[in-house]
Amino acid sequence: MELYYDIVVLGGGPSGISASISARRLGAKVLLIEKNGVLGGMSTAGLLNVWCGDSYSKIFQKVIKNTTKKTDSGRRIFSPETLKYEYIKLIEEYGVDVLLHSFVCDVSVKNGRIESIKTASKSGYTSVFASNFIDATGDGDVANLCGIPFEMGREDGLTQPMTVEFMIGGVDSENALFKQARGNAYLQQKMQEYLSDGRISRPVGLIILIEALEPNTAFCNMTNVIGVDGTNVLDITKAEFEARKQIPQIIKFLRENVKGYENAYVITSACTVGARETRRLKGKYTLTYLDVQDGRFFDDWLVDGAKYCFGVHNPNGKVDAVIGKPVETGKRYTIPYGCFVSDKIENLAFAGRCISGDHYAHSSYRVMPICFAMGEGVGSCVAYAFANGLKVNSLTLSDVKKVQQLIEEEI
Ligand SMILES: Cc1cc2nc3c(=O)[nH]c(=O)nc-3n(C[C@H](O)[C@H](O)[C@H](O)COP(=O)(O)OP(=O)(O)OC[C@H]3O[C@@H](n4cnc5c(N)ncnc54)[C@H](O)[C@@H]3O)c2cc1C
Repeated sequence: MELYYDIVVLGGGPSGISASISARRLGAKVLLIEKNGVLGGMSTAGLLNVWCGDSYSKIFQKVIKNTTKKTDSGRRIFSPETLKYEYIKLIEEYGVDVLLHSFVCDVSVKNGRIESIKTASKSGYTSVFASNFIDATGDGDVANLCGIPFEMGREDGLTQPMTVEFMIGGVDSENALFKQARGNAYLQQKMQEYLSDGRISRPVGLIILIEALEPNTAFCNMTNVIGVDGTNVLDITKAEFEARKQIPQIIKFLRENVKGYENAYVITSACTVGARETRRLKGKYTLTYLDVQDGRFFDDWLVDGAKYCFGVHNPNGKVDAVIGKPVETGKRYTIPYGCFVSDKIENLAFAGRCISGDHYAHSSYRVMPICFAMGEGVGSCVAYAFANGLKVNSLTLSDVKKVQQLIEEEI
């Protein structure tokens, strides 16, 4: 099978959804390709239920309008189940075409341009031809197939742990600990005891429990698998196994120690292990720790108003999961055009957690509200390039200023 589009977005997570909507809004014929049977990436298939950080993304505002509630502790929580059809409504509203159950497995590149990408599915191989492409796979799969260089992990190559999220029932919501559990000295000590005598296998450590919209339930972000590469299928398989084996141990720990979880049980777990950190593609500019910490303003921004702390879950799997640098910045920052394009391929841009940044900057911009903003910026940028016959990776500052006006329009 062969398909023809103006713009093709690979990966239907937060960044891919917003990139496809933004490009479609500006008149391009857009196809969004996703390997799962649901759109939303980590926000649905990954069974997350809380938005961390913030951005000025208008599409994110649309998504949260009827789906999200602010808790007493200030968390913005949602139901991943609800998002599954909210995304369908949104995609249909804008007229984006979608191909689910389709894994992007190959690219055809000629003279520095992608001619087509290939997907594998029940239909066999499908070749999709387009003028421009956006890699929103989280892992930079498409850019990698094109030979764009990347970095992974911190200086010693270790990456943040992989995690299977799960949902807990039987919670006494009125009395249960949620955000307070994380810094609770008694629980930390108990966790140390369980780790020392093997009742919980390392590297489970941090106690991360999130209140849910559904009564008497909670979400748990506590399984941890370290020393695995989220782009290696053998490691991904190992991580699925290890994380799922940790779930009964964690439930037992919660029942025995944490207030409100005495009758806790597992309702369901994510259908896929989540990778916090894989390829960080080498773009024309690499966003740094200091850019984020200082709240740097770039004239050629494609993302404005990004805000989150440095959220590094320790690659060593120790309990003190967040590294020793200042964690909270309190400042909003911008992400420039150069983080989303490379010198190598003229008709490809990237969005989401695979963009060009260092290990620490990545730990901030990887959260979902910022990924939505990336998709919005990149979708507008690529649609602008398409409409004006320009190379995606060669826009001038004056072009990017025009893209900024598009991003700021009402949607
Ligand atoms: C365990 C964990 C907990 C987290 N907790 C939070 C949290 O509480 N709040 C928060 O805001 N952020 C959280 N994050 C971060 C956030 O979820 C991700 O960084 C964010 O979802 C990245 O968005 P994305 O669009 O780049 O990628 P993703 O959400 O990963 O979406 C990428 C999409 O591309 C698809 N895809 C991948 N490869 C291919 C391929 N080759 N072909 C076709 N499709 C493909 C995937 O199936 C997926 O749907 C967490 C991350 C993890 C791993």
